Amino acid sequence: MTLFLDGAGVSGTAFFNLLTISGDDGGLGMNDDPADHTLLLVTYTETAGQPATADRLNTLVNTDFGTPIVITAMNGGNDPYSGTDVTGNGTTYVDSSSGSNIIRVVYDVSQACGKGLALYDTGHNTIATPNPVILYHELSHAFHFATNQLPFPQTACPGNTTDEPAAEIDENVLRTQLGLCLRDVCNHDGTTGWGSTCGGSLGDADGGPPAGGCAAGNNGGCFIVSASTGSPQSEEVQQLRVLRDRIATASGLSGRLIDLIYSEYYQFSPEIALRVEQDRMTRQAVLAVVVRPLLAWYALAGKLALDGRGPETDAAARAIVAACPIFLGRARIAAALSAVQNGEPLPDGAARLMGELSDKIREATKMRIAAWAILDPLARLWHAAARGEDMIQAVSNWLAEAPLQAVTPPGHQATLDLELASLARLLAFNPGVKPLLGRRLAVAWPDAMEAMARHGFIEQEIRHG
Ligand SMILES: [Zn+2]
Repeated sequence: MTLFLDGAGVSGTAFFNLLTISGDDGGLGMNDDPADHTLLLVTYTETAGQPATADRLNTLVNTDFGTPIVITAMNGGNDPYSGTDVTGNGTTYVDSSSGSNIIRVVYDVSQACGKGLALYDTGHNTIATPNPVILYHELSHAFHFATNQLPFPQTACPGNTTDEPAAEIDENVLRTQLGLCLRDVCNHDGTTGWGSTCGGSLGDADGGPPAGGCAAGNNGGCFIVSASTGSPQSEEVQQLRVLRDRIATASGLSGRLIDLIYSEYYQFSPEIALRVEQDRMTRQAVLAVVVRPLLAWYALAGKLALDGRGPETDAAARAIVAACPIFLGRARIAAALSAVQNGEPLPDGAARLMGELSDKIREATKMRIAAWAILDPLARLWHAAARGEDMIQAVSNWLAEAPLQAVTPPGHQATLDLELASLARLLAFNPGVKPLLGRRLAVAWPDAMEAMARHGFIEQEIRHG
């Protein structure tokens, strides 16, 4: 109970970096932290025979040091806790600002916002430094902090009294495992650029630098939720990030769909957010009509997908209805949302706010993937609240229309099977969803028909003549 991923940041990327450090060990997992839902708890049951870096990870996860270690992965920008710019860098320190000690590992996963991050070998050649290597280096410092061995004793660089040589010696252990060039352990300098990989592996795909640079990546945040709640670090933003990362890492297919949603979302949301930020009335209206109901919807969908049906999902369904106050006029809002979706004129009496933003919202409705992710559930939930319909069924209907046809399925058979199996697990809460989804995917993914049938996305029919 020691190692955590921070919801403020791109924790999905951090998870994939830990997976590389574990030697792709299936024993690595993560869970919500019941005590603090802005954090994800890393769990690890190490499989026998994993490499040395997995042993270190096992120690970090399963030893009670008395001080938690929290990993924050950033798409460039400032460390939200210390304020220092971490672009092209990583940093590990003890944060006592909350009254108790937290060992913070904050590292940049954008490769210096897409410029590349290179270090030096003993011949002063530049060498590649993929994100798992940066993280493993920082985790070495974290280990030394946690075990009170700072600086960690070493003889490789006489006269150097910092913790860097020991962290660089550890870093080279992971580099060796991946077949990457080895770092000069007595040289702490770095530069931008990609450097040589020496033919080694960069580790598991981790999302890489955000398309459109660090600013577009926005650390996985949500402009409109940030604007309406008044902070990119608000509880609402953090909850959304944590849920997004859990769904993205639960299946490669859902992860790539989420990437597509964000890339569309970033095309129209900054302008809406700017307008929302400008006055308090607008902010509160967006919070009440859009953000709170939608977050309640995503929370229910997330619970159904990750934990299945149970008393908690019934409570989550009631929370959506509670997030749609009757005094706002549920049927009126539902009708206005349907009009926006269908490109019809807004009904009389629709909120002034929606009128002002309607051009931007109409633009958003043309983006099919973002419209499915945002406008579609919003209309569904207000209609369901107005009519007293079953929210769990409404979420099922919505998921059955997930635009997964926009995602390219993996060509490799074993990977495709794995990804369909993990997608099937996410949809297991309602057996009706898979065949509906499968019917559309069969058209979009003709080469994946057999695999989809194996995982129940296509009902095996009796063949005629
Ligand atoms: Zn260091």
